[in-house]
Amino acid sequence: MDRKTFIKTTAMAAALTGVGGKLSAQGEDPKVVKNNPKSKSGLPIVISTWNHGIAANEAAWKVLSEGGNALDAAERGVWIVEADPNNTSVGLGGFPDRDGIVTLDASIMVDGGQAGSVAFVQGIEHPISLARAVMEKTPHVMMVGEGAELFAESIGMKRLKNKLTPTTEKAWQEWLKEKNYKPIINIENHDTIGLLVIDQDGAMAGACTTSGLAWKMHGRVGDSPIIGAGLFVDGDVGAATCTGLGETVLRTLASHVAVEEMRRGATPQSACEEAITRIVKKHPNFKDFQVGILAVNKNGEHGAYGLHKGFNYALYQDKKNELIDADSYVK
Ligand code: ASP
Repeated sequence: MDRKTFIKTTAMAAALTGVGGKLSAQGEDPKVVKNNPKSKSGLPIVISTWNHGIAANEAAWKVLSEGGNALDAAERGVWIVEADPNNTSVGLGGFPDRDGIVTLDASIMVDGGQAGSVAFVQGIEHPISLARAVMEKTPHVMMVGEGAELFAESIGMKRLKNKLTPTTEKAWQEWLKEKNYKPIINIENHDTIGLLVIDQDGAMAGACTTSGLAWKMHGRVGDSPIIGAGLFVDGDVGAATCTGLGETVLRTLASHVAVEEMRRGATPQSACEEAITRIVKKHPNFKDFQVGILAVNKNGEHGAYGLHKGFNYALYQDKKNELIDADSYVK
C-alpha cells in the first residue's frame, strides 16, 4: 500500500469505526491478547507501553492517517497521556516526589539521530513538546530544571504552579505517614509512556515521557530523558523504549543495548530479552523491581519483554489496536 492509499483507507476506517475520534483515557478495557504473538511485520506500526498506550496509539495513528509524519505522531500520541489528569505516572497528574512536587522527564528522537530531552521540569503540561523544541530550536540535546522552564516560557509555553490533584494529594499525604520508599512491582508507583512509530514511508520516531518514580528524592532524574536509556532510535536499524525502575535502565542503557542487538542481526524479541538479561545480571535484587522494554526493527517487526509478569503494551498494526501481555524473564 503506498502512502496516499494508506492515508485514504485509514481515514475512511477511522471515520467508520470512530478510531481517532473519542480517545479512551488510561485504557478503556481493550481486549487483551495473551502473551507475545509471533511478531508480524508491516508498516505503519505504532507501539507503546502499558494500557494507557491504547489511547496514545489511537492518537498517533490518527496523525499518520491524516498525512502527518512519524515525529508528529509520536509527540501527539503521548500528549494524550500527558494531558490526562487521572494518569498518576505521566504529566502533571503524576505522583509527586517526597516533597510534594511533580517533576517531569521526557525525550524524543528521530531516525536521523536528532534528539531532544528535558529533565526535572515543573509546571509544564507537555514536556514532550518541550523536548521536541530543545531538539528543533536549540543547538542542544538536553535541558533541565529552571533553564528548561525558562526556555519553555520563551517559546510561549505556560509555566504552571505546582498543584497536586485530589488523588495525588491524598496519596502523598498517605505516603507521608510511613514514608516507605519502595517501588512495588506492577502496583504502579511508576508507569512511563514510551511510544515508537514507523510510518508508511519507513520514517521512525520515538517519544518517552513520565513523572518518574513516585516519592523520589527531589532532583532525581530517571532513565526516560536519557538518550539510549529510556529511548533510542536509529533509522538504519530500529528503535527501543523502556519503562520501569529507571536506575537499572540507566546503569545498562537498555534501549541502546536493544537497538545494537538488532544491528547485529537479532530479532526485536531477542534484542529485548538480551537487554532485560543484562539488567538481571547486574542487579542481584532483580526480584524486587520491574522493567519492561519494547523494540521495533525497520521492517515493522516488534518485540516486548518484561522482567516480571504484568508488563503489557499496545500495538497498532494492520488497522488493529490491541493490548498485549508481554512475556517475561521471571515466569
Ligand atoms: N522509568 C521511569 C523512571 O524511572 C518510571 C517508569 O517507567 O515506571 O523514572
